[in-house]
Amino acid sequence: MTSTNDIRSAFLEYFGAQGHRIVPSASLVPQNDPTLLFTNAGMVPFKNVFTGQETRPYSRATTAQKVVRAGGKHNDLDNVGYTARHHTFFEMMGNFSFGDYFKPEAIEFAWTLLTRDFGLPKDKLLATVYAEDEDAAELWKKIAGLSDDRIIRIGTSDNFWRMGDTGPCGPCSEIFYDHGDSVFGGPPGSPDEDGDRFVEIWNLVFMQFLDQPDGSRDSLPRPSIDTGMGLERFAAIMQGKRDNYDTDTMRALIEASADVMHQDADGAFKSSHRVVADHLRSTAFLIADGVLPSKEGRGYVLRRIMRRAMRHLHMMGAKEPVFYRLLPALIQQMGAAYPELVQHQALITQTMKGEEERFTALLERGLTLLSDELDRLGETEALPGDVAFKLYDTFGFPLDLTQDALREKGRTVDESGFETAMAEQRKRARAAWVGSGDTAAETVWFDARDKHGPSEFLGYVSEKADAEV
Ligand code: ATP
Ligand code: MG
Ligand code: MG
Ligand code: MG
Repeated sequence: MTSTNDIRSAFLEYFGAQGHRIVPSASLVPQNDPTLLFTNAGMVPFKNVFTGQETRPYSRATTAQKVVRAGGKHNDLDNVGYTARHHTFFEMMGNFSFGDYFKPEAIEFAWTLLTRDFGLPKDKLLATVYAEDEDAAELWKKIAGLSDDRIIRIGTSDNFWRMGDTGPCGPCSEIFYDHGDSVFGGPPGSPDEDGDRFVEIWNLVFMQFLDQPDGSRDSLPRPSIDTGMGLERFAAIMQGKRDNYDTDTMRALIEASADVMHQDADGAFKSSHRVVADHLRSTAFLIADGVLPSKEGRGYVLRRIMRRAMRHLHMMGAKEPVFYRLLPALIQQMGAAYPELVQHQALITQTMKGEEERFTALLERGLTLLSDELDRLGETEALPGDVAFKLYDTFGFPLDLTQDALREKGRTVDESGFETAMAEQRKRARAAWVGSGDTAAETVWFDARDKHGPSEFLGYVSEKADAEV
């Protein structure tokens, strides 16, 4: 079996041999874009290189980039534990051309790596292209020998990438792997594409245009390439699995979670162990990059992830902090590729343990309140917004934690009731501040929170950057 660690190395070495600089992963906290919550794609650290604001001593690069998609534009948090192919933290493998090579080479590189180096059967692969991108369709035929029915033309914005309202943009081509007949899910672009038969593994972006502030679109004199391949999805294929969570790395974390709880990884709590394994990675990597759990901004997203994992552990019977005890398993899997985990092991451990200690007492009381309330309600009634708000305000339950707890029971929260309760409390808080004669800073904070909404208030203006890959 090819390990995930070996696949990562093979990918980087392949592009290294094709003249790409192997660049280490950048931080999960974007260094060049304060409006972006987390690095959510491999291209993020190179944004200014693509726009020409920054130059590098190389025109081809390859990376294994740490990525978090929880909160903001790409939010895969609610998928975790329930789909076979979404994580909150994952590694995006990529190759980049900064005005160097373009479509023919990008397609050739991807195809050669997949079918020659990694030996994937050609008849398992499909490619989507943007409907107007005849060039790409022709190249897939010529280079890969794909027949027409394996080239799927998609005309929606899904297959057209933009960095933002202005700036570089261009068509995409997504490479899919077909896991086989027996499983639910239609081909890409079809209404039921979200099954697990066809899995998107690699997204190629052809940056060939420049959107101007006046709304016009120019052709770039030297077009660029940005690609992103999900390492976990690809490892699943290479390891003969349908499910990312059955790959070596994820499986080791799931088993660590099951061990610490003295349970069967595939028993009644199967999806909880998956959630814990996923959230362990986002938690540890975010702390290693300097994010700490807090009440707002990045820290609040981290807190939501941590508390959600902790609720699952509690539900499985944990009576004392256990989440931090899983860290050594993660370090064993990923510490060699990401030495920051080892370097910051003490801080990560301490932070995880401290957060769990603080939250455990509240969690127990909050869950009791929640189950009492549910007992009083009719079978199909949504949890009233003021109860969800009390859980949030008094017991530190982020709304999505409550929703996650209810989801297992097929129940929901009255979200607008929750927002109303939140708005009322804000009004009271504001009135109190006015009375206190305090200064501008708080007013600014309240204004920002009003504008951006309470539960999703992340402390950032917006995610204007459309970093699809
Ligand atoms: P999907 O349509 O499956 O949600 P995407 O189009 O949002 O994927 P891209 O933004 O194109 O994904 O990211 C590039 C690659 O990263 C994808 O082709 C996929 O292999 C991988 N990927 C995207 N989201 C996730 C995730 N949440 N967990 C694991 N891998 C992911
Ligand atoms: Mg997605
Ligand atoms: Mg997609
Ligand atoms: Mg994509």
